[in-house]
Amino acid sequence: MGFFQWQYRKIRIFLKKFSIMLKIGILGSGSKGNSLIVSTGQEAVLVDAGFSRRELLRRLGALGFDPATIRCVLLTHEHTDHISGAPVFCDTLKIPLCAAGNVLTLLKRKKSRLPASLWSFEPGEQFNVGSFQIGTFPVQHDATDPVGFVIGCGGIKVGIATDLGEVSPMARRSLVNTEVLVLESNYDPEMLRNSDRRPGLKNRINGFNGHLDNRSAARALDSLLGDRSELLLLAHRSCECNTEELVREEISRELSTLARRDFPFAVLKQEHCLKACRRPAGGFDLTEVM
Ligand SMILES: [Zn+2]
Ligand SMILES: [Zn+2]
Repeated sequence: MGFFQWQYRKIRIFLKKFSIMLKIGILGSGSKGNSLIVSTGQEAVLVDAGFSRRELLRRLGALGFDPATIRCVLLTHEHTDHISGAPVFCDTLKIPLCAAGNVLTLLKRKKSRLPASLWSFEPGEQFNVGSFQIGTFPVQHDATDPVGFVIGCGGIKVGIATDLGEVSPMARRSLVNTEVLVLESNYDPEMLRNSDRRPGLKNRINGFNGHLDNRSAARALDSLLGDRSELLLLAHRSCECNTEELVREEISRELSTLARRDFPFAVLKQEHCLKACRRPAGGFDLTEVM
């Protein structure tokens, strides 16, 4: 490629990045239901559909997203809090459910209700949905081939890892320096220890294939945030073994240590929706919706 062609390409990428009005809507996050939408306004993808169809439509409406723009539902894994509304929602909108091949095989074997249209991928595979580039990567979690996603659009990347026992080198490589990082901050170890959950469940949650605690999420930021990072969203907070304040404290402390005291972040909620709209010059405006 000649010098001028190279410059032209660089300018085009630059203009594309600043002309896309990327919007992200968090419909809800936590052990009772997870779903988020990444949208350009003209088209969108939904990641997980862990609410009933009615509730998904209600929350999309409250956030101001048109369901008719959704091209597919991307599934991280088959746990109920991620999949419960997906079959009915996909069939209503006549869109495919896109999941790891082994997840679809398992659901078929269990004779679970599945939507009419299915797309499968292998964890680690990349593919396009409309103008979105979808990257998938395996995560450590007690499910069948659980994955995280990196959704790219117009040069902006949204990295998503909501259920993971630890940030593996593979997850780190995928999530590093994405403009938006959606990362689990599930539990406070002391609150989990003192909770009246059975020992087996406690071991499952804090195990290698369980969920990410506040400290581990905070500690991962050193290697995940980069010069392109614009927004951090802490996801899948446990209602019983964590508080919003504890997540805030842990993350604020880490950001200060990293000399990023003013870096914007939000702790996602189960019952409230959040809309993040990217400004033309970069950075996001956040609005919480009931
Ligand atoms: Zn979950
Ligand atoms: Zn899960």
